[in-house]
Amino acid sequence: TLFLTDLDRSKIDIRPIPKMGRNAVTSNELFIDDLMVPVEDRVGEEGQGFTYILDGLNPERMLVAAEALGLGRVALDRAVSYGNQREVFGRPIGMNQGLQFPLADSLAHLDAAELMLRKATWLYDHGKPCGREANTAKYLCADAGFEAADRALQTHGGMGYSEEYNVARYFREARLLKIAPLPQEMVLNYLGSHVLGLPRSY
Ligand SMILES: Cc1cc2nc3c(=O)[nH]c(=O)nc-3n(C[C@H](O)[C@H](O)[C@H](O)COP(=O)(O)OP(=O)(O)OC[C@H]3O[C@@H](n4cnc5c(N)ncnc54)[C@H](O)[C@@H]3O)c2cc1C
Repeated sequence: TLFLTDLDRSKIDIRPIPKMGRNAVTSNELFIDDLMVPVEDRVGEEGQGFTYILDGLNPERMLVAAEALGLGRVALDRAVSYGNQREVFGRPIGMNQGLQFPLADSLAHLDAAELMLRKATWLYDHGKPCGREANTAKYLCADAGFEAADRALQTHGGMGYSEEYNVARYFREARLLKIAPLPQEMVLNYLGSHVLGLPRSY
């Protein structure tokens, strides 16, 4: 059952969880004990909360996919700028294919992942089923975004590991999107059973 009620700290204990990233938003352990919720604070019908939440899951996957895509793109921009500017052995490091190819490969992966995301959002905006596309977009964008962030960090060498160029933060933030709001494995479970029609494994 969903409810939106006053935060009574004598009945609700909130303990922040220290995290490796995502610190613009707190995540907490929440303990609720003996809290009386007036019926007017209930959202919708009793016992239907989960069905209401289900409605928001596809848009959440698309939102997270867009977040991963943005992180990947900004990381790639930083990598390109550093690759053009940093000189080692008398030439910009971006001139080396060993460095240039992974960045170009990430560009291709990000562009392809974006197309799937745009397909998913188009279907959603037109009121059509989009579970397959929303899940696939989240899966591809999370992978492409993290891959780009990882490569951007590598391009910066030791400076990537410092906080100075922000790529370490992009790396940490992009990593989360392979875990939440659902892990990559659960996307594959969904595609395997709901789309391909294989037996459900869990
Ligand atoms: C920063 C952050 C913010 C979050 N915010 C929210 C929030 O606002 N609201 C909310 O509801 N949740 C939130 N979550 C929780 C998040 O949705 C879960 O952590 C995520 O869905 C993974 O579930 P779990 O942690 O229970 O992993 P588990 O279910 O314990 O799984 C652990 C690992 O095993 C794998 N695994 C488990 N079962 C299978 C299987 N059958 N096949 C293959 N692999 C499997 C998983 O993929 C995962 O890699 C947040 C998490 C983080 C880290």
